[in-house]
Amino acid sequence: MKTVSMSLDEAHALATECLTRHGADEENARAVADIVTAAERDLCHSHGLFRIPGYVASLKSGKANGRAVPAITELAPGVVRVDGGGGFAPLALEAGGAPLIERARQNGIAALALNNIYHFAALWPETEALAEEGLAAFAFTAAFPYVVAPGGRTPIFGTNPMAFAWPRPGGHPMVFDQASSTMARGEIMLAARDGHSVPLGAGIDREGRDTTDPKAILEGGAQLAFGGYKGAALAMMVELLAGALIGDKLSFEAEAVDNADGGPPVGGELIIALDPARFGDAAGFAAHADLLFGRMLADEGVRLPGDRRRKARETTARDGIRVPESLSRTLVALAAG
Ligand code: NDP
Repeated sequence: MKTVSMSLDEAHALATECLTRHGADEENARAVADIVTAAERDLCHSHGLFRIPGYVASLKSGKANGRAVPAITELAPGVVRVDGGGGFAPLALEAGGAPLIERARQNGIAALALNNIYHFAALWPETEALAEEGLAAFAFTAAFPYVVAPGGRTPIFGTNPMAFAWPRPGGHPMVFDQASSTMARGEIMLAARDGHSVPLGAGIDREGRDTTDPKAILEGGAQLAFGGYKGAALAMMVELLAGALIGDKLSFEAEAVDNADGGPPVGGELIIALDPARFGDAAGFAAHADLLFGRMLADEGVRLPGDRRRKARETTARDGIRVPESLSRTLVALAAG
């Protein structure tokens, strides 16, 4: 694949230009560009510039509000809500960050419910940012229904990601962020396009039979959760936390109101932050956790989740990033109008 080289600043400027050109205001465009550039910086291309055409599609179709102004309300002493006003998630997240941190430090635990947002990103940025503030954090969001419940044939759960970050004072946080499907939707689409098979366990065909044919999964079939019924239970949990609990859309409800413009679904996100200093071992929790990490890492071949991304930062800060030429052409055209 032919690629072009770009600095992170150039990637940010290009993303911002694409979004402002199609109706986003400076603040919303900057917030999305920050998240997209962070994904490129960490070599998470699936949530980097690759997503910009989808964001732009939702601006052009009028589905998402590129001029949304997030509104904060306090629902309970430890529960903050941000209504994203039908905009993209990043600006709503920014608005909710400081109140969530403040409430978590006050109470030991606090939750942030983001409502009425379009989420098209990974979840590690929000959890990592909280861990850098000394908090442990969970994040959950639902998506479009692609994944079946165990034994079923009808997709009902999103690929529903969940992330967890753990603060390591004096070091980098440990962060994992994973979908609840065996494979990312995009990977199955790429396999279908390129005529490759996918591993058994990725999905079923329209008759409910296991298949390695990506087209059979995409055309009338469904994806499977990782780890069988155990992963499916987590996908269901995400629907409940990021949908029913916070009064927002379940994945199938998001699909029902979607205009199929190729952009993100409307819905919510739940973030939970815990302050380890308030759980009884303020002086010892970090060393205790590091005991676990140290034992894990003593086993040759083991790495901590999040370490790949962090290593990538050294390379991309120095060398910039490589962007597929076709994507670069698309973005330059979108930035031009
Ligand atoms: P991966 O399977 O690539 O990685 C999942 C996690 O496992 C990462 O934290 C990764 O850390 C860690 N990991 C991978 N290999 C190892 C290893 N050998 N040892 C230790 N840890 C490891 O992610 P998914 O494909 O499941 O998800 C990709 C992204 O898609 C996520 O960021 C998710 O939030 C996003 N997503 C977003 C959706 C949305 O609607 N907004 C929907 C579905 C997914 P590391 O990064 O360091 O490799």
